[in-house]
Amino acid sequence: METPAKIEGTAAPGRNNRAFEFLRDIPKQLLIAGKWAPAQAGGTFHTINPATEEVLTTVAEGDARDVDAAVKAAREAFENGPWSHITPHQRAKYLLKIAELVQKHADELAHVITLDNGKPISEARNEVARTAEVFIYYAGWTTKICGETNPSDPSLFNYTLREPLGVCGQIIPWNGPLSMVAWKVAPALACGNTVVLKPAEQTPLPALAFGKLTLEAGLPAGVVNIITGFGPTAGAAIARHRDIDKVAFTGSTSVGREILQAAASNLKRVSLELGGKSPNIIFDDANLELAVAGSAMGIFRNQGQVCCAGSRIFIQQKIYDEFAERLTQVASGITLGDPLQPGTTMGPLVSDEQYERVLGYLNVGQQEGACVRAGGERGPQSRGYFVAPTVFADVKSDMRIAREEIFGPVASLIPFRDETDAVLQANDTIYGLAAAVWTRNVNRALALARRLRAGTVWINCYGILDPISPFGGYKQSGFGRELGKDSIELYTQPKSVFIKFQK
Ligand code: ADP
Repeated sequence: METPAKIEGTAAPGRNNRAFEFLRDIPKQLLIAGKWAPAQAGGTFHTINPATEEVLTTVAEGDARDVDAAVKAAREAFENGPWSHITPHQRAKYLLKIAELVQKHADELAHVITLDNGKPISEARNEVARTAEVFIYYAGWTTKICGETNPSDPSLFNYTLREPLGVCGQIIPWNGPLSMVAWKVAPALACGNTVVLKPAEQTPLPALAFGKLTLEAGLPAGVVNIITGFGPTAGAAIARHRDIDKVAFTGSTSVGREILQAAASNLKRVSLELGGKSPNIIFDDANLELAVAGSAMGIFRNQGQVCCAGSRIFIQQKIYDEFAERLTQVASGITLGDPLQPGTTMGPLVSDEQYERVLGYLNVGQQEGACVRAGGERGPQSRGYFVAPTVFADVKSDMRIAREEIFGPVASLIPFRDETDAVLQANDTIYGLAAAVWTRNVNRALALARRLRAGTVWINCYGILDPISPFGGYKQSGFGRELGKDSIELYTQPKSVFIKFQK
């Protein structure tokens, strides 16, 4: 590694010193009521650079007591603080200011993401840009959250208000450690809520950097509180807390189920964005070059650690061999290595646990009789959680590698006969987050867009996400939609007001 992974130490030639200084200056504590504080129990934990397996730094390990303090701060800010009576225009200004600061520190934030998460720096830069866009988009919404008037008895006037829910608990994963902050925090604030955010224990630093920027933006104390810590302690305390009005979660389906149960304690509102095993369907009339490139991006971006990754690639029989050959070539051409190097196109997986899990599936696939066309093994690096981009051919829909979410750079290639066969196999899953279709036949594309049971369908493209459009799951991929105006509905509730005319 040319770039030392440790953030301690002095400036050194050959590394981005501004980024390292920024990283060093991020408070490694909990953000509660506008102040940084250690965990009440004094606990801390390490965050690891997955490219080197070295400790990057140590952050506070919050638990239920800290969550409680954060909820009190968020409640106070919601009920009595300046946040409770500012105008929508003022809220917009805060969101725009945050977006501006994210853009100003784009380079440093991208480095923080790459060091903590392992994704290539080019992808981290893209994540930062998308983060700013989400804040800008929701800044626009603050002034457009409207109620309605409804026709009633002529002696009555009825109107509705759309009001914020209150204190929102938000639990996010490690695969988009900054963009997930934006997806959760931006709409919640746009609607006038306050927030207790828990980043994933694998990647606490981008969220802490964000916390620092909220203070720089002058956001009133208690509006955004951040508790770093572990799922079963800090996360579970958020899910069951009786003074939290809503919990929003992105992560695994099994944890989503636990959160839903815990949220029943006070019937808090719940939105869940969970796992996926998304089908990516290539018909023999598709533009093969674009389909191969899009499919590779769909499964290999972010090392395949994407809930909507196109992990089941269904290929019409006539072009199966050619597609498999071309995808194999793309996979073999991926540059696996130091994610801080600009030429790197794939970095390490996020953690030891994730690494072992994905390697386990590489064994399972081979035992099940799938044929390894590319990868199938760990990367050649002596350190770091590197897994070679893998293409499995001759996969059958009932194999575990075609049914279970691997969350790694592993493509399963499955043949299909015709449209009906493609739809049957594609929908044969407990998940329903996303799907894609590659074809030049517009009638077929439109028909499949309807028949595929997924929250997002991409036609002749893969993985496009945009704050203008809702994202979320069918079936066990969760419920509730984030982004778009749907997020405004997630973070508000209508109130109906009747006025009786008096003589
Ligand atoms: P992954 O398996 O990809 O790490 P998880 O669903 O385990 O995904 O984690 C996503 C987020 O949920 C993380 O912030 C994690 O700390 C949190 N989490 C894990 N377990 C729980 C739990 N029992 N209750 C609440 N949050 C949890």
